[in-house]
Amino acid sequence: RAKEDGRGTHRFFEREMDLQVQRRREMELDLRRAFSRSEFELHYQPLVEIASDKISGFEALLRWPHPAKGMISPAEFIPIAEEIGLIGPIGEWVLRDACNEAVKWPSEIKVAVNLSPVQFRSRNLVQVVISALANSGLAPKRLELEITESVFLAETEANLAILHQLRELGVSISLDDFGTGYSSLSYLRSFPFDKIKIDRSFVKDLAKRSECGAIVRAISGLGRSLNISTTAEGVETTEQLDWLRAEGCNEVQGFLFSGARPAAEVGQLLVRFGARASKAA
Ligand code: C2E
Ligand code: MG
Ligand code: MG
Ligand code: MG
Repeated sequence: RAKEDGRGTHRFFEREMDLQVQRRREMELDLRRAFSRSEFELHYQPLVEIASDKISGFEALLRWPHPAKGMISPAEFIPIAEEIGLIGPIGEWVLRDACNEAVKWPSEIKVAVNLSPVQFRSRNLVQVVISALANSGLAPKRLELEITESVFLAETEANLAILHQLRELGVSISLDDFGTGYSSLSYLRSFPFDKIKIDRSFVKDLAKRSECGAIVRAISGLGRSLNISTTAEGVETTEQLDWLRAEGCNEVQGFLFSGARPAAEVGQLLVRFGARASKAA
């Protein structure tokens, strides 16, 4: 009896596993098909400088409008794209598309592009960035590349060399999601980052949990001492904004201003948040 139950449970798990494997395989096929059919889109979320209260740039965020499943989050499909070797081509497309778009914006407005640690393995990342800049005509100083600490987990020396080459092109390098992951301060010593992006998880509970406030305050202070600009992610309330301003954080990003919007709406966002809306003038 007990034996039979055990076998039943076993079969149940096998079926569950089969289903998961199947769902996963479907997702992989879908992903490849979507990429080959150019179904991905980049949406843009404003980065707002606290001092001037104006947009200083936009972060390009990948969107996958799935014909049957609706909008699929990059948090869901990027890990799969990384595993199946599709992040290289996708990442290259993201860079090219973001640069082509940004070159239409006023010249003081920057564009931030996320890089996957897997893109560092391909060894042609620098060439891809050079070519995206050259083909679009975007000035390198208008491109910000966002990386996470995971870039330092393996191949540290090789990846540092790539980061230095990128920076020599004149692009800037931001450390994204700071405070999550391993958060070793030695990363800040080993590379001259231009910007630290304070993870949303700390910003969220700024007022409610004193630890979060203390951590955000410490990171802003660290940025100031090291001459690295700080951006708070996930700012949703004026209360958070006031707090961040008082603590000397430089830039904010979040739903308080706007979520990521399609490229066609960038002009409107620029009008709404003070910057010049057209390239001319
Ligand atoms: P991230 O780079 O940290 O991007 C910020 C995420 O926070 C975005 O999620 C954005 O929509 C979300 N966000 C911004 N403001 C708020 C807010 O006020 N409240 C809340 N709740 N969320 C906010 P998204 O677009 O879902 O992207 C998730 C992650 O996927 C990104 O995190 C990034 O790591 C990755 N990702 C997105 N696009 C790309 C890409 O082109 N390439 C690579 N390699 N990764 C990407
Ligand atoms: Mg980012
Ligand atoms: Mg981030
Ligand atoms: Mg984040």
